Formats: sequence, structure tokens, C-alpha cells
Amino acid sequence: SDKEADIVIIGAGGAGMSAAVEAASAGKSVIIVEKMPIVGGNTNRATGGINASETSIQETEGIEDSTDTYYDDTFKGGKEENDPELLRVMVENSASAVDWLNELGAGLTRVSLSGGATNPRIHTPADGSAVGPVVVEVLQNRLKELGVEILMETTVTKILEEEGQATGVEAATIDGSTFLIKADAVIIAAGGFGANSDMVESFRPDLVGFSTTNHAGATGDGIELGQAVNAALDDIEHIQIHPTTDPESGYMFTEGLRGDGAILLNTEGKRFTDELLTRDVVSANILKQTGGIAYLVTNEVMKEENAALAGYIKKGYAVECETLKDVAEAIGAEEAAVTETMSKYLDAVTSGTDEEFGRTHLTQSLEEGPYYILKVTPGIHHTMGGLKIDTETHVINVDGEIIKGLYAAGEVTGGVHGANRIGGNAMTDIIVFGRIAGQTAVNELNR
Ligand code: ADP
Repeated sequence: SDKEADIVIIGAGGAGMSAAVEAASAGKSVIIVEKMPIVGGNTNRATGGINASETSIQETEGIEDSTDTYYDDTFKGGKEENDPELLRVMVENSASAVDWLNELGAGLTRVSLSGGATNPRIHTPADGSAVGPVVVEVLQNRLKELGVEILMETTVTKILEEEGQATGVEAATIDGSTFLIKADAVIIAAGGFGANSDMVESFRPDLVGFSTTNHAGATGDGIELGQAVNAALDDIEHIQIHPTTDPESGYMFTEGLRGDGAILLNTEGKRFTDELLTRDVVSANILKQTGGIAYLVTNEVMKEENAALAGYIKKGYAVECETLKDVAEAIGAEEAAVTETMSKYLDAVTSGTDEEFGRTHLTQSLEEGPYYILKVTPGIHHTMGGLKIDTETHVINVDGEIIKGLYAAGEVTGGVHGANRIGGNAMTDIIVFGRIAGQTAVNELNR
């Protein structure tokens, strides 16, 4: 039967749940609609961390960083195609996003360096666990305390509109029956379309046949729901492939692994790139290698420092190799080639200069075994483009006007990341703009 709320939110990922926490904390009645049997969407799969600048944690660690540098890194990484105003809002609210999550109990107190960042600014749980599930859990706990209703396995099929104003949604339960949720504000937080190969191919015919790192619900519903009420799109052709995914399952190995010292070898046993370049460049460089694959080389020393790596090994993704001879065998290269590559890399780490590829972050000599080798290929990871929004998260229509009562946040939107997203910025995006969506909706309901 039909329902009513002040605010209805489409999607219970990081963006939707952040919006819901803000709106419910301000006393509004909120209903979240989630089509999958679990909450968290792609946010559950965020294994890296959350980027933020000028945080209290960086200060404690003595890390010098600035919000302007964060802006510049992201703008450069996005090939200067980012919407400057949206980007400014994201970086300026990044520190408070981390504080907010930590107040909810996320414990994001470890800071490290990640691809595309000048300074260490990716914040992760202190115990080394993946950021996504932790954030989802604390948001879900808070929503329980606030008594917010989440309708599970329920799919929004339509945004209701009266005279250019969003008035609620139509939704379908798993048995196919439909009902209406009347609301004064609708927030689209339905995520990206990385698991919808038809949509991927329609915007990017060159990406046919790629594997995906996305959860099954990342089908771009939010984009189609928005377009049905005249929403404009931004950056829709920009689709990110993650450089290091398991070729068979699409499982993604965090960029933090390279940040913490891993290198990449091709099947000939040679390095071929500065491993810490942006995702699109590293992906392109892997695709140029034989078979479009490469191998991440890590070792026991790294395993002891990196909980994510320990997890991949435990899950069976890594081949354990006692010696470099075993490494050569595992990747099908000549032993001499691998030995030469590793001794050149050791020289680079020792001298502090990587003459061949210009890698500047040289923390692990990878001198001792046992080694752990992960076979990788790029997979479809993040859809940068989506619904066009303004800095207050209003959805903008094809005539450039605000659609009243309609807001969007998270991966469903376009503009923030430009042509390429820097690792760690998805979490910043969804928390910052999810919160703003909730706040803007509340403010406008109170008018
Ligand atoms: P973000 O990172 O932007 O929060 P996520 O992928 O984490 O995005 O979350 C988006 C959520 O929206 C997912 O849980 C997904 O299942 C849900 N979703 C997608 N389409 C619909 C829809 N039509 N109705 C309800 N929920 C949806």
C-alpha cells in the first residue's frame, strides 16, 4: 500500500545513507528504498580509503597537506574536466566528512599515500580493514538509532512529478506489485552503471567485454529515472577502469598496495610503468603489455604491514613464491629477466632514484622472499559521469534549470571527478554530497 514521508531516498549506499542520517537528525521523516537484499551497494566494495585534507589526523601525524593541493591533484587527475565548483565543495568539506564518520565510530585514523596524491591523505581504519564495510556499518547503526525505515528488495521505477516539482516515487516489490511513496523531496542516490554492460557500451563502445568490479545493483537506474524527468547528464562518457583487478572474478586489489610498495611486472618479467601514476595511465600501460595483463609483486615484509594484502593472500588470490626463480615460473618469464628487474629496482630504492620510470615513492626494496604475486588486468570500476547537479545537489534539467524537490548525490552524479577519479575520492564524494543532499532537502522543506 502507498506510503508517505518528508523525504524519500533512492538507494542505501554511502551517499543515500549519509543523506538519510542528516535528514533524520534534523527531525524529518525519511524512507530509503533499496533494491538489493543488502544495503551498501558499491560502497561495500570500497577497499581503499577516504581522501581528505587539513584533517586533525594528518596534523597529529605531522603530515603537511593543504586543501588547495588536494584540489590541484584532483583537477589534474581529472584532466581538468572536473566541475570546478563541485570539486571545491568536495575538498573543502573533506576534513569534516572524516570527522563526521569518526564521530559515528568509523575509526579512520591511519593516513597513507595513494596514487595521484602529492601528500599522504587517504584515511583508512586503523586496524587495516577496508573502509567501505566500516562506513556502511556505522551509517546503518546510526539509521537504526534514528528509526529510519529502509524498504529492502524494493526498486524505484519512477519519480513522480507535478508541475515540475518532484512529489515522490513509484516503487516495485520483489513480487512485482507497485505502490507510491509520496514525499516533498526525492534524493537520487542509486549509484553508477558499471555493472550495466549495455549502458557502458552505449556510452563507450570501446569498452565492450570488460569485466567489472561493481556490485550487481550498479545498473544506472538513477540516471534513467532522472532522464525520465528531463535531468541533464554530465561527463557521461567518462568511465574508469581500475588498473588492478583479478582477471577471473573482477575482484579489485586496492591501489594502496602500490602505494605501500608493490611493483608491476609484465609476463616478460619487466617493469613497464611508474606504478603510482593515475589509474587511467596505469590501466593503459597494463593493456599495452602481452595479453593485457600484469603481475603485482609483493613480499612477506609488505604482508606484515598491509592487512589488505594479508587478506588477498588468505582468500587465495596470490601465488606464493619462495625465490625469484619461483616468481619467474609463476609469471612465465625468464629467471634472468626477473632477477635483473628486481636488482635494478633494489638499486632504485637504495639510491632513491628510479631512473627508468621515475617512481618517487620508493619504500620497499622487495629484496627478500617469500614473494606474493597477484595477476591483474584493468576492469570497469567507476562511472564518473551521471546526473548534472549544482553545489547544493539540486538536479539540473536539460534547460539548465533546477528540478524542484529533486536532489542527487554520489556515483549517480557527474562532474566532480572529471575524466578520471583519483583513488580515495569516491568515499569523499559520497559522504560530502550525501550529507549536503540531506541538508539541502531539509532546509528547503523548512522554508
Ligand atoms: P554511492 O556510492 O553513490 O552511495 P552505491 O553503489 O554505494 O552508490 O549505492 C547505491 C545503491 O542504490 C545500491 O545499494 C543499489 O542497489 C541501489 N539502487 C540502485 N538502483 C535502485 C533503484 N532503482 N531502486 C532502489 N535502489 C536502487
